[in-house]
Amino acid sequence: MANAIFSVPRPKNEPVYDYVPKSKDHKEILSALDEALGKKIEVPMYIGNKEIFEGEKISMHPPHDTKHILGHYYKGDASHVQLAIDAALEAKTEWSEMDWNHRAAIFLRAADLIAGKYRYQMNVATMVCQSKNVFQSEIDSVCEFIDFLRFNVYYLSEIYNRQPAANSDTIWNRLKYRPLEGFVFAVTPFNFTAIAGNLCFAPALCGNTVVWKPSEDQIYSAFWLQKIFKEAGLPDGVINMVVADGPATGDVVFNHPEFAGLHFTGSTKVFQQMWTIIGQNISKYKSYPRIVGETGGKDFLMAHGSSNPVQVATALSRGAFEFQGQKCSAASRAYIAKSIWNETKKHLVEQVESMKMGSVNDTSNFINAVISKASFDRISGYIDEGLASNEIECITGGTYDDSEGYFVKPTVFVTSNPSNKWMAEEIFGPVLTIYVYEDEDFEKTLELVDQTSPYALTGAVFSTDRYAITLAEKKLENSAGNFYINDKPTGAVVGQQPFGGGRASGTNDKAGEIFNLYRWINVQTVKENLLPPEDYKYPFLG
Ligand code: NAD
Repeated sequence: MANAIFSVPRPKNEPVYDYVPKSKDHKEILSALDEALGKKIEVPMYIGNKEIFEGEKISMHPPHDTKHILGHYYKGDASHVQLAIDAALEAKTEWSEMDWNHRAAIFLRAADLIAGKYRYQMNVATMVCQSKNVFQSEIDSVCEFIDFLRFNVYYLSEIYNRQPAANSDTIWNRLKYRPLEGFVFAVTPFNFTAIAGNLCFAPALCGNTVVWKPSEDQIYSAFWLQKIFKEAGLPDGVINMVVADGPATGDVVFNHPEFAGLHFTGSTKVFQQMWTIIGQNISKYKSYPRIVGETGGKDFLMAHGSSNPVQVATALSRGAFEFQGQKCSAASRAYIAKSIWNETKKHLVEQVESMKMGSVNDTSNFINAVISKASFDRISGYIDEGLASNEIECITGGTYDDSEGYFVKPTVFVTSNPSNKWMAEEIFGPVLTIYVYEDEDFEKTLELVDQTSPYALTGAVFSTDRYAITLAEKKLENSAGNFYINDKPTGAVVGQQPFGGGRASGTNDKAGEIFNLYRWINVQTVKENLLPPEDYKYPFLG
């Protein structure tokens, strides 16, 4: 593989448009939204050079308007998964042998297409498909994805430039960076369009070819990712999008000897099932597969008695309820010192009750719908059980309605038991549970934060007391892959706060960072002796 390196300057983060009402961008986005809602699209599976309209035909609906039909996608079966693997393997040699600068150019072009020509379209696709308001969509499907594309190219150039020293004039050492042998399997979640794009593209940038299984709740925006990749010049067979039942897909992939890596984001349970199957099949593979998974969270906010109640309330209302709490990083348990609780509660309830809920078409809505009937049922189950529990007091929300879309009112519970399921399990919806602790129990409560949940994704501490902050940072060192001081625990930016967690939250390979790219390359060390010795005797032999 030719790895000629040209200097790649460090990119800047894509600026976020703010869509102020009546601005040009606001008008443009509304008109793009109207246009999208007036059309129906048919989404094929993209396998090799074929667009496959086979299998079960399934309609797509905005989660906030379940009667509206956005179009249809086609759900295949194990035979389509096999075709996708074959297509990936067939495309592999040519793609991996292409000079990396050309591979990178395709993805940089995709970034530019999203930044310009397709900006509104990408936003609208994510707004209607995943029920994100325009701002949430802009920071995900446009800015974060562009940053993934540009920063990964920059980081890969750094890896390729890393070469060992030559210790003498007659020895030349070099590292050759090859892709993995075989194909990579990307399995992506519903909640971030940027993650779906990145999980396929990052291994492909490194010269791998990919079988991609998107979430069935994200197909409409996945279609636009494929369209943009194609327009940017991505050759057939490099990223093959197959839609099939999860376990059935896994069954074909994890039994294939050329399975080389899993790039997964989704729930902890699914990741653990996959890892188990991979482990059981380990002797079938040509190489040890790379397993990268970013999974669930039970993200915390810990407020010390010295913190500012309005700032704590604002971090909670944004951190817990943006995108209906369906961010892996969303604050879903909070620990508030008793001395600031009344004031914090007043601001929090005021803020949450002022949030408008409804369709993404009205951009003054802060809250939209949750993704699906299954999510709605799961979240409303946690709410009902909470309302019935004598350990829980509901201070706002607690209602839901799926007559038009899957709407759940942002709900805040206060619990007398800091270890119950609302404080420990991932609910993945707009439900925040708070435990009020005695101010003098700050250190003891930090231990509780650390031990209550198996997850370790994000967490925040609020305080103006530097001793309290340093104690929290030390005690919670392993409780969060992304730790925030006086900020909400969401909103990581590529190139600024590399994202990922440990414990049950994943392998912590930090998406969009150099650490992640190392997982998709295979390093060969070459030592060349320019003047091979001709006598076996070392000097010490005399
Ligand atoms: P999910 O686990 O239900 O699904 C993820 C993907 O796995 C989907 O494509 C799904 O179809 C597929 N899948 C499900 N069962 C499968 C199986 N047995 N074999 C193969 N594939 C299978 O997750 P979701 O609901 O789409 O996303 C939400 C979850 O993702 C939450 O737990 C959230 O915390 C997590 N998440 C984590 C991060 C992170 O960076 N840590 C980021 C986003 C989302």
